[in-house]
Amino acid sequence: MVNECFNGLREGLDAGDLSSEVLTRQSLEIMAQRDADLGALATRLEETSLACARKADRRLRQGERTPVLGLPFLLKDNLALAGASLGHGSRIGPIKPPFTATVVLRLMEAGAVPVAQTRMDEFAMGSSGEHCASGPTRNPWSPDRVPGGSSSGSAAGLAAGYAAFALGSDTGGSARLPAAFCGLSALRPTYGTLSRKGLSAMASSLDQIGLMARSARDLASILSVVAGSDSGDATSTCLPRQDRLRNLHVMDLKGLRVGLPREALGDGLAPEVRRLMETAVALLASEGAVPVEVSLPHSRFAVDTYFLLNTSEVSSNLARFDGVRFGTRVPAADLQDTLARTRDEGFGPEVKRRILLGAFCLSKGFYEAFHLKALQARTLVAQDFQHAFQQVDLILMPASPAPAFPLGSRLEDPRAMHLTDLHTVPQALAGLPALVLPAGLAKGLPVGLQFVGPAFSEVALLEAGHAFQRLTSHHRCAPPLPA
Ligand code: GLN
Repeated sequence: MVNECFNGLREGLDAGDLSSEVLTRQSLEIMAQRDADLGALATRLEETSLACARKADRRLRQGERTPVLGLPFLLKDNLALAGASLGHGSRIGPIKPPFTATVVLRLMEAGAVPVAQTRMDEFAMGSSGEHCASGPTRNPWSPDRVPGGSSSGSAAGLAAGYAAFALGSDTGGSARLPAAFCGLSALRPTYGTLSRKGLSAMASSLDQIGLMARSARDLASILSVVAGSDSGDATSTCLPRQDRLRNLHVMDLKGLRVGLPREALGDGLAPEVRRLMETAVALLASEGAVPVEVSLPHSRFAVDTYFLLNTSEVSSNLARFDGVRFGTRVPAADLQDTLARTRDEGFGPEVKRRILLGAFCLSKGFYEAFHLKALQARTLVAQDFQHAFQQVDLILMPASPAPAFPLGSRLEDPRAMHLTDLHTVPQALAGLPALVLPAGLAKGLPVGLQFVGPAFSEVALLEAGHAFQRLTSHHRCAPPLPA
């Protein structure tokens, strides 16, 4: 049981006890039964998935083996799949990419089966999954709560058993936060580890594809297939010791120096999150790990820094949705009016807010005070981590200040919504890898903790996560089935 990959699906497929077609049909059936209530899906890929599954079965019968061969997966609606439309959770109109995102392509070449595109906060802006033109996604653990965003549908669908793993994007926490809220494991790799080719740009200096699965070990299997440089993304690069991902070691925790950031464990942390963090620390210490208090003094500026940089980059990246290059045109009397009406009718309130704020931050006379200052603050946030990693091997911190909040409770208060990202934006600003793991339930809701490591320490992070999951069973808990 403990050693199973993808809940035993990997072993079942390799032994010939299961077929990819049967698994894919099960996926399609669960989605058909549950998604009217959950609202996790944008588009089902029924025909594509069955064709891919049959092909995977042929490869399996011929004795071929890859870590993901035959496994169904979900992809966020901002990752290109040739022939399918990308909606980005927006009303502005879909785009039809002529190519497939490199990460998706690598998975499909290794035989993984895309079963559906998932709902998301519009253009990945949000922390709750509520900023989606086709309606909010619910949390499978508690239907009155948000699943977290912006990769809301990927997390909710995966937790509800739609697939074996899922892809999201993580600009400031969009894969990690929903994973934490839905009881899943997720990895935001070091900036550059995964190609961004085919991921619709939101804030390019922060965007990374995020991986979601049920365990650190499954994440390692997926990462072994998708990591590595790509001529289609000049910022992509290779991961050291990538070969160790396929047979992930259980890290010996003895002597591992685990940094606990004072600022992340201060006031403002929900008592149940604190309690589960303390339980995790005690468990690691009982295995010989050494907890060390560290300080990330500039992390208190991280949310503001993130939103200044994010909005600036958003205002530039989304300029192309104008009804001429992308987006459905709303015709008007002249060009200026056409552009304005297309964007006014197409974009939702959060996207408009960011474009306006970002254009302001970049404008003459304000650039120095806002954008440039934020770039300087970003360096300070990154330097805090560098100092901490002189004293410790890894940092352990909460994934969010509290578990999933009720639907609707933060929609009218953008500041409260943005503060949900308190513990996921610092690593994004610093470009560092972070691994979210389930740490237990509080009043029936999952709580996530987060291991953070130096740049390109994915292998060590996942080995530490694997060791933690050998000692715990939180990652094996699934949400209750609906009545
Ligand atoms: N919640 C953050 C935001 O709204 C992060 C989004 C993301 O990572 N895509 O910007």
